[in-house]
Amino acid sequence: SRAEITYFGAGPALLPTDVLETAAQALVNYKDTGLGIAEHSHRSELAATIINEAKADLATYLDIPTADYETIFMQAGGTGEFSASVYNLVGAWVARQHAAVVAELGGADATDDAVVAALRKRVETGLKLDYIVTGGWSLKAYQEAVRLLGPEYVNLAADARVDNGGKFGKIPAQSTWKLSPDAALVYYCDNETVDGVEFPEFPAVLAPRPDGTGPVVVADMSSNILSRRIPVSNYSLLFFGAQKNLGLTGVTVAVIRKSLLAPATVQPSPALMRKLALPIPPIVLQYEIIAKNNSLYNTLSIFDVYIAGLVLKRLLQIFPDKVDGQEAVSKKKADLIYAALESNPAVYKIVPDKSVRSRMNICFRVTKNGAVDESEKAFLKEATAQGLTGLKGHRSVGGIRASNYNSISLEGAEKLAKFIEAFAKA
Ligand code: PMP
Repeated sequence: SRAEITYFGAGPALLPTDVLETAAQALVNYKDTGLGIAEHSHRSELAATIINEAKADLATYLDIPTADYETIFMQAGGTGEFSASVYNLVGAWVARQHAAVVAELGGADATDDAVVAALRKRVETGLKLDYIVTGGWSLKAYQEAVRLLGPEYVNLAADARVDNGGKFGKIPAQSTWKLSPDAALVYYCDNETVDGVEFPEFPAVLAPRPDGTGPVVVADMSSNILSRRIPVSNYSLLFFGAQKNLGLTGVTVAVIRKSLLAPATVQPSPALMRKLALPIPPIVLQYEIIAKNNSLYNTLSIFDVYIAGLVLKRLLQIFPDKVDGQEAVSKKKADLIYAALESNPAVYKIVPDKSVRSRMNICFRVTKNGAVDESEKAFLKEATAQGLTGLKGHRSVGGIRASNYNSISLEGAEKLAKFIEAFAKA
């Protein structure tokens, strides 16, 4: 039964049972309307309430400064955001250059051709997107930028596989990052779900300068959002799929600095972008369109937003000190599991470097006489027999991965830690 299992899958992940039970009821008959939540119009008043409450609760829980940041719900997953971030932030970069060129050429007197020629030059010499690649997901984001724009515009500012035997498991020293001046974006993945690598804190080298200016920082927080405090104001964009800590697969959240959205920054016209041989976003990936329509440019799954809202309300109820409360629990659970692994070094080899170990995805190998052997399979089999499931590592790297998301209870983490100890002794 559900009560007998602790599921450590990497996503989709476990959701709190009471949330699912409430949602199951709402799916049949929402608030006694005789219609299920997924049957009501996404343009109904009750749908608007669900969206607005989820946004507000997210802002409360994470302390998002809502005067400066907009939150939108989208549908293309973390993968869709790899593309959306490129399209939208290249557009924003071109818009900034356009304003500068028009001013340089004497404002309204500048002829179109002269503006385009000057802009082309700026694009050729100055358009760069920087990627800090620390695992499989930031690598995919980097590859998508190269695919959309061509390699000439994309800078691999750091690659964690270099000097690490071609494998992920480290974060290169920030002093070695090759950052471009005025990059359209600097991208990193805050927690690498497959490789178990998490940034211990916001990278200082990307911090805003005292005058408030600074790099356009984009972070993928799909697998650690809601688990620790984040300095939202340091980011231009952060995004996350819901299916780990927030809710169901099917909804993706983007938190965007408002100055990157219209009317402050209007995306360049498709005609101008064509003249510059740069891509424009498909309309469902254009942030300002989605923001202007309060996430309802097209049909949004209100059920998915509803579940996310229930998860947020539950977190706010459990933790009066909001994300800080969850952060303490997340750390406690991760410490328990890592301690069990560390106390048996002859059996377990933790994959990433200690300084960058993820609190959310705990990746290790089971070894015998220093080598991985059949005991890894035995570990998985015995764990499953005890109700500890979903522990198999990602197919690309193998090994064991215990995903320690918010819905894993302290008891669940304790049970796993005890099993890790007992298996080593046996
Ligand atoms: N980024 C991270 C960190 C992820 O863990 C994942 C999926 N596990 C993705 C992006 C891709 O998300 P999706 O499958 O929703 O496109």
